[in-house]
Amino acid sequence: MFDLVDTSLRMAAMKHKIRHLVDMNVGRVCFDEPLKNHCTWKIGGPADVLVEPGSVEQITVLRRYLHEQKVASLTIGQGSNLLFDDAGFRGVVVKVGRSFSAVDIDGETVTTEAGASAVRLARQCGLAGLSGLEHIVGIPGTLGGLVAMNGGSLRQGIGDVVVSLEAMDKEGQCHSFMRDACGFAYRTSIFQDSDWLILRATLRLRKESPNTIHARMLEILRERREKFPRRLPNCGSVFLSTEQMHATIGPPGKVIEETGLKGTRIGDAEVSTQHANFIINRGNAGSEDVCRLVRLIREKVYARTGFRLQCEARKVTPAGNVVRLDCESY
Ligand SMILES: Cc1cc2nc3c(=O)[nH]c(=O)nc-3n(C[C@H](O)[C@H](O)[C@H](O)COP(=O)(O)OP(=O)(O)OC[C@H]3O[C@@H](n4cnc5c(N)ncnc54)[C@H](O)[C@@H]3O)c2cc1C
Repeated sequence: MFDLVDTSLRMAAMKHKIRHLVDMNVGRVCFDEPLKNHCTWKIGGPADVLVEPGSVEQITVLRRYLHEQKVASLTIGQGSNLLFDDAGFRGVVVKVGRSFSAVDIDGETVTTEAGASAVRLARQCGLAGLSGLEHIVGIPGTLGGLVAMNGGSLRQGIGDVVVSLEAMDKEGQCHSFMRDACGFAYRTSIFQDSDWLILRATLRLRKESPNTIHARMLEILRERREKFPRRLPNCGSVFLSTEQMHATIGPPGKVIEETGLKGTRIGDAEVSTQHANFIINRGNAGSEDVCRLVRLIREKVYARTGFRLQCEARKVTPAGNVVRLDCESY
């Protein structure tokens, strides 16, 4: 009983303090905010607090406070690679968005803030006659999320063009990283599932005719429209398509399809009939529906091929840990 009173008093004090720390004119604070409104899968219960900071200064004081008070926190962009739990998140979600979307182009060097939309960044660079980001033109999400995931398509990753970046540690100190220190490898970086908050990145692109870049982007978008489901909520490819997997049994979509799992459904979570590496939310899917479907796919594929699929998508536990969706220990 006393524990319960103590917890709610602590929570009320934290909410009051955060509201005070984030100047509401430039930032936004929401309490008990449904996380399904902040991810492309449209799944997830409430976060105690969700903050959309308006300035680096706000992020600094907020992170310092959360660290001192030992409050769990999580940085997100557009939530296009995340599965939130139906129970939500007991802590503070920091959403890096529109207030951090400035892009500066100087010759072949592009400096972009972490909240910039990947799609808009690709288009802006294309219009400026800079090539190297065409492969991200159809990827939802922010530059920060893309860097953390080393996301990309056509066997490329954003890390290929990163020169350096700036990130903040959990105590509010900013650090610079040259490309070699970022640990970029296939769909991973040192920033993934870590406490770092990426603030901005400097990219090096190469000059090419805007018309040629535009044509290449249209072709990429056309192919994606044909291949990928677009109507219902999803989080893109659920399983990683590693080189080793490609070489031994083929890409995950093909393997899942050959295992006869297209259209398999648990609750409202369904293996897309259009592309089997996508799980779509038919309306009211819960996090457990998706997790059970992921387990089923992995078991069946393992039984047929002897290969263990690994997830690209991440699960956020109620305590704030970010783990691979196939991680059995959450
Ligand atoms: C329809 C669809 C198609 C997709 N296609 C592709 C594709 O072709 N290739 C591909 O790679 N991905 C694809 N994705 C997945 C996703 O869009 C990318 O991983 C994207 O880069 C994630 O960006 P985000 O801002 O949404 O990050 P989130 O999903 O919000 O976060 C992803 C991870 O990055 C971390 N993160 C986010 N922002 C920051 C920050 N500022 N600092 C530190 N860490 C941060 C989060 O903590 C989390 O661990 C697709 C998704 C969808 C829905």
